[in-house]
Amino acid sequence: MNPTTDATTTAGAARPIRRAVVTGGAGFLGSHLCTELRRREVEVVCLDNFLTGSAANIEHLVGDPGFRLVQCDVTDYVHVPGDVDLVLHFASPASPIDYLKLPIHTLKVGSIGTHHALGLAKDKGARFVLASTSEVYGDPQVHPQPESYWGHVNPVGPRGVYDEAKRFAEALTVAYRAEHGVDTAIVRIFNTFGPRMRPFDGRAIPTFIRQALAGEPLTVAGDGAQTRSVCYVSDLVRGILALAGSGHGGPMNIGNPHELSVLQIARDVIAATGSSSGLEFVERPVDDPMVRRPDTTLATEVLGWTPEVPWTQGLERTVEWFREGAGLPQAGVRA
Ligand code: NAD
Repeated sequence: MNPTTDATTTAGAARPIRRAVVTGGAGFLGSHLCTELRRREVEVVCLDNFLTGSAANIEHLVGDPGFRLVQCDVTDYVHVPGDVDLVLHFASPASPIDYLKLPIHTLKVGSIGTHHALGLAKDKGARFVLASTSEVYGDPQVHPQPESYWGHVNPVGPRGVYDEAKRFAEALTVAYRAEHGVDTAIVRIFNTFGPRMRPFDGRAIPTFIRQALAGEPLTVAGDGAQTRSVCYVSDLVRGILALAGSGHGGPMNIGNPHELSVLQIARDVIAATGSSSGLEFVERPVDDPMVRRPDTTLATEVLGWTPEVPWTQGLERTVEWFREGAGLPQAGVRA
């Protein structure tokens, strides 16, 4: 473990946020951020190319005069007329099934896309928040993971395209803070779940819910002993917006430290859906992390943030959303 550099932790002055740009705003997390920002009466410009997101995620915002959707690819350019107080850079394929199908795009959006989003923040004098990930810790050898841990990543393994894109994006963000004085922050997001996850995105929770509701066996990777710490989406959004409003540079872990084995998650999904599905044990993906749990001391100390929604309650809400049919059916990624 290593001390975090001063360049990343210096707190700037918090500012009022009147107008925000959300890249990847039509995705799972981006759309929840757009919704919450609008609830707080912040004007929102959503930039998305619908690669892994969907119009359905933001259809409730269309027609709202405070919400504007711009369909664009942030690896081409990022241009937004008018004042901007906050840039939330969330554009990137995020689930393994997506980034394994789109390896070069994932590297481009993490590097070129982040460069463009930082350029926008610099031009506008805006606060910038990078959506980084617990994947920067790789298959961690320190548990739980504090922000000072440098990680254990295989740069040439299949997951390297995502992990290294995010590690590069973090380095670029810190460089913009140091060289250009941009008011940046890095949030390291741990596994998050909730409504608007795609049933075929390959992540464990939506996959298990889809399988359970269809009466199919739940496909548990390996023996299911590997752990994940899952955070309900509303808790995550509250943490990210607290960081955005704080002036703290991060990197800061936001996630729920309540750790569950993948087998436990599968059993809880069967219970929550009342399904008669069984379990099927399948091969574990290459470089799949064995353990994952955030150390959230920093978020609690700096932001007073702690997750509030218990796992079973978040699971019930998510199952309800899938049951209503909103999450079904949809086939994988649009390439
Ligand atoms: P998502 O796939 O639902 O959303 C990503 C959005 O980015 C999509 O709407 C997609 O169309 C858009 N996008 C992709 N490339 C783009 C481009 N070049 N230009 C414009 N838009 C583009 O994924 P998500 O789960 O909402 O994740 C959002 C962000 O949060 C990602 O940066 C991801 O790395 C990060 N993150 C998510 C989690 C999680 O648990 N969901 C965990 C850690 C980090």
